[in-house]
Amino acid sequence: MSDLEKTPADATHAMVRAERVHKSYGLVEVLKGIDLEVKQGEVFVLVGPSGSGKSTFLRCINHLEKINAGRLYVDGDLVGYRQKGEKLYELKDSEVALQRRDIGMVFQHFNLFPHMTALENVIEAPVQVKGETKAAAKERGMALLERVGLSAKAGSYPSQLSGGQQQRVAIARALAMQPKLMLFDEPTSALDPELVGEVLDVMRGLAEEGMTMVVVTHEMGFAREVGDALVFMDGGVVVESGDPREVLSNPQHERTKLFLSKVL
Ligand code: ADP
Ligand code: MG
Repeated sequence: MSDLEKTPADATHAMVRAERVHKSYGLVEVLKGIDLEVKQGEVFVLVGPSGSGKSTFLRCINHLEKINAGRLYVDGDLVGYRQKGEKLYELKDSEVALQRRDIGMVFQHFNLFPHMTALENVIEAPVQVKGETKAAAKERGMALLERVGLSAKAGSYPSQLSGGQQQRVAIARALAMQPKLMLFDEPTSALDPELVGEVLDVMRGLAEEGMTMVVVTHEMGFAREVGDALVFMDGGVVVESGDPREVLSNPQHERTKLFLSKVL
């Protein structure tokens, strides 16, 4: 059986499936053949030194970057392409937009709309992109703010909130689109240490509810307690992967050992 016959059927079992994914910026190859699989309902932790390609990989999943070679599937659908027989056709912008609606992303620097209140941030996409009525979006938005412990801050602007509060609003905003997959790119790296816990608690709650999550983080305690799978990336390749507790307590590769000795 050829790869092309095999992959689409297999891909339906995974939320994310990467096969020999390559990505270059100009002449610089940043992802050098990534193979991995994120299962439904799994908390998948991605760790690695700065510059190893973690953000680039998340951006490829979320259609913010286009891969140069290999195949990338989200929930069984090829990212950026449609397959007919052996041929690939690039998706139209409208089709890409449809795929992106189902993926929530949370960034290191929150990226809230500064001129909107917390609630306005949360209801923006459901109203503008999904065409929800403002009343319905507000009701759901308030429930989401409650879920992240911020119903009292609905009318506050980002500048009036702490970093931890802003990040929790950002999570609520991503959830408002009812995503099937959440991507977190170092969500606590910009926070003062005393604010990290409140964000990790929200993420832990999401995990318990069964959300599929890909989390780039240096929080190894979180990886150990909440993670179902862990991949260590370096230089654009997957160096080592497995059960987080296994990899963290018994790393097999020198590069993994060196990295963990710096972050643990
Ligand atoms: P990580 O998130 O693991 O720190 P990144 O994915 O951000 O790594 O970056 C991987 C490499 O790709 C780095 O060397 C970075 O400088 C480079 N890179 C990232 N984005 C771009 C871009 N838009 N143009 C050119 N090079 C980039
Ligand atoms: Mg990064």
